[in-house]
Amino acid sequence: MLVPHRAVTTTQPTASSPAESTAAKALAAAGDADSARDVGALDAAAKQAAERLGRNKQALVERLIYGPAPSANELQSGALAASKAGARGAPVVAAALASLQRGEAFTADGKLSAALRHAVAAEKGYGFTVPGEFGGLDGEYVELALVEEEMAANGLGPLAVEISGELTIGAGSLLAYGTEAQKRLFLPLVAQGELMAFGLTEVGIGVNAKKVRAYVEPDPATGGFRLFAHGDRNKLWITNATHGGLVGIVARVGQDGKQVGLFVTRLPARDVRAEDGVGYEFWCRSSDTGAFTANHNARLHFHGYPLAASEQIQADGVEVLFYCLRMGRCMLAAMAAGYQRMFAVDALAYATAREGVGGQVIKHELPRQHLGRMVGGALQSRALSHLSLQQDADGHDLAGLRDLTKSAAATTALQSQIACERVLGGRSFDSSSRVHQARHNMHVFGVVEGEDDLILMGMVKDVTDGFTSRYMAGMLGVLQSINVGSDGKPLPAEQRLLRITPATVLQQPGKVWQATTRLVANGSFWLLALWIVGNLLVELLRLPLLLVPTSLLPRYQQLPAGLRRYARFAETRMRWLRWAYLGINLHFQLELTRAQIPLQRLGKVIEHLVSMLALCHHAAALPDNSQRRVAALQCEQLMTQVKGLRLLTGLWQMDRLRALVGAVGDDLEHGRCTLVDGVAPQAFAHPFEKKAKKPKA
Ligand SMILES: Cc1cc2nc3c(=O)[nH]c(=O)nc-3n(C[C@H](O)[C@H](O)[C@H](O)COP(=O)(O)OP(=O)(O)OC[C@H]3O[C@@H](n4cnc5c(N)ncnc54)[C@H](O)[C@@H]3O)c2cc1C
Repeated sequence: MLVPHRAVTTTQPTASSPAESTAAKALAAAGDADSARDVGALDAAAKQAAERLGRNKQALVERLIYGPAPSANELQSGALAASKAGARGAPVVAAALASLQRGEAFTADGKLSAALRHAVAAEKGYGFTVPGEFGGLDGEYVELALVEEEMAANGLGPLAVEISGELTIGAGSLLAYGTEAQKRLFLPLVAQGELMAFGLTEVGIGVNAKKVRAYVEPDPATGGFRLFAHGDRNKLWITNATHGGLVGIVARVGQDGKQVGLFVTRLPARDVRAEDGVGYEFWCRSSDTGAFTANHNARLHFHGYPLAASEQIQADGVEVLFYCLRMGRCMLAAMAAGYQRMFAVDALAYATAREGVGGQVIKHELPRQHLGRMVGGALQSRALSHLSLQQDADGHDLAGLRDLTKSAAATTALQSQIACERVLGGRSFDSSSRVHQARHNMHVFGVVEGEDDLILMGMVKDVTDGFTSRYMAGMLGVLQSINVGSDGKPLPAEQRLLRITPATVLQQPGKVWQATTRLVANGSFWLLALWIVGNLLVELLRLPLLLVPTSLLPRYQQLPAGLRRYARFAETRMRWLRWAYLGINLHFQLELTRAQIPLQRLGKVIEHLVSMLALCHHAAALPDNSQRRVAALQCEQLMTQVKGLRLLTGLWQMDRLRALVGAVGDDLEHGRCTLVDGVAPQAFAHPFEKKAKKPKA
């Protein structure tokens, strides 16, 4: 379970070389050379992964904003595919649940047991999506999602976590990038139930994945490599990593090399010390994380550890990660659906059994609202997961959808945890309760596979990329050009102009004049003007349509009556987002490279709106009235949240908010905030070498 961090700027890479990425250029123009380098490198890896995937059909989220609108059939395809999916997962789930019922699933200290793993492996659960030729079950990912959901719903969330990691990034990386020999060697082992981990995070690096410091050096004696991941290069929080297990290790090729490699190896069965005299060191220790406590989660140390040349995967390690993440995110959503169903079941049982003030708890409106949140979040996560999986299977680029699916699932899972606590009361903190045991996992779902807010910002960048590169690049280029001195070098920070406002016209009229003349001479400026006029005309023509009742519009007649208004609201608002994005760009200009608040807010609105649409169509596709009512309730809650998140009308509010955040942040950063005076921070776990602060450019 990993967290790579994509660029946080509005602009998108248009070239594979980091140096040429538009995002990197925007950051460089804004004077942030460090971010420009990091972002350029990450964007290049993401772009290579997308090319490798070859999903060429335009992304759904982008079409919902910029058109053409997807058909109802497409929006319902995920639900229909899942309802027709094969039953290959049933024996796997049955074996796992039987083990749970026998009381064998967990060891006395709460870890997944060998007996459970054995029972699941016997049904090829660990090789569920591995092709039959390598000993797997040849299952579809949608079937795996159903398995993952059922496991999590029945108290086996940790098993779902283990299998998801095993198959999405473990087997997934081998299937996509491994040589034939590597597949033949490792995939049968995975299919038999040998655990496989993916080790990218280090003590010294987290979200900035391209900065890994573990490295390999060539070993002339063997023709292979020696791996060095010592000190704060240790691999940290590696899920599924255990003595004797398989692991994909991301490491730089050469200590200062540019290439980030990936090596698949079997870890030694026990720790190896220097004094053992075998020429290398290795240890594997618990990372002592309080989340995923039922799983293996380790800190790994290597010093001079031998790797065979045949263990190298011929690809960039971060690219492989990006490639596999889409499935990891869909599976996390499936698990979140399961966890939320589990919360609902336990809360419901309690609420029906317990007398509250004035009768059974279930009779009262607020506990019912909480229960609605749990089943609503479950359905939302499931609808998004199934839609994403089908989009991927149909060759659509998952840009945007995979990210909001993960963020929505993790957010609703945490909200449902809290809702469940409100219904269960004190007993939700009973240490033997599965609601209590789930708590840390629900929190960590927001961090692993991409921290929610970061991936929402990356999503905004992805789904607006086409528009940005076509219509906004000119403006960006002009702003960039006025921040370069006559010697061709970037101007000092204090002379850079990131945003032209009415005040700038008075303060720096020369620069504004220079920018304006360059802008009107720029072709893409006129293209943007044309886009604005054309789109305004279309919106004007559509205006009368707003008066037509939803029930009369053929597009919404295909939906159950109780869901139509939500689908229409979601689609209309998604289309309007093209104006919100334009407005945000015109308002913040180059500052948008730093302005995370508006991007995150826009991302959240997209997440809610696409969730509403997915819910409506998911429920419409299946003949289940109880789920349609759940979908309507969840949509109502989401609609309220969207209305509270102001974008175009909130531009100046965001300015104020950003200024206040900046002021408090500066005080905190520079030791001026008295509220934190006199309190010593606790030393954090897994300390790393802190980089010396660079003087500000
Ligand atoms: C239970 C668990 C299981 C895990 N499993 C694995 C695994 O199997 N394999 C693996 O490789 N890793 C794994 N991880 C690591 C996980 O991917 C990392 O926690 C993640 O990469 C974040 O790194 P970090 O925690 O060091 O945060 P940091 O990189 O230190 O970041 C700290 C915070 O700052 C924020 N931040 C950083 N940069 C920016 C920015 N530019 N703008 C805004 N916010 C920013 C981050 O979002 C984060 O919230 C696991 C972690 C946990 C806790």
